[in-house]
Amino acid sequence: MPGLEDLYREIILDHYRSPRNRGELESPPATRVEGFNPLCGDEIVLYLDLDGEGDGATVADVRIGGQGCSISQSSASMMSAAVKGRTVTEVAQLTKAFKAMMSIHEQELDGPGEGKEEAGDSGLTADDAAAIDDGVRLGDLEALRGVVKFPVRIKCATLSWNTLAQGIAEAQG
Ligand code: ZN
Repeated sequence: MPGLEDLYREIILDHYRSPRNRGELESPPATRVEGFNPLCGDEIVLYLDLDGEGDGATVADVRIGGQGCSISQSSASMMSAAVKGRTVTEVAQLTKAFKAMMSIHEQELDGPGEGKEEAGDSGLTADDAAAIDDGVRLGDLEALRGVVKFPVRIKCATLSWNTLAQGIAEAQG
């Protein structure tokens, strides 16, 4: 029987080889944002179409372009599938839960200070822990859990989420 790590590897490879929501949207009306991870050279071009206003707005469509390592591209694919049809509030919860899974080392990579939320020994804030306790379902995204063992790759995994947050902010700006 394949172990959990094999299953995770398969899910990541599946998203890398058959990326979901790959492509472009006409912009405008869609919002186009780019994200770049200089640590690895990953780039994400994200097209976002929001329906509605404020926190209740829904991700009507999202498309992903760009190139990079398997972690960055599979994470973007999983993210696109996970957020489509969700409200901005739900996306924020999902982002928080995913980052809680990843955040432990990302804060170290960002270096000390500069208004970072303080983290305890676990690297998780009380809010992060609550997001996990709330049972936010990460689905395929769980497959990226193993990335925390390779701190330098965490930026690869979180790139698409940071780009999405930027897209939502610009779309609602
Ligand atoms: Zn990468």
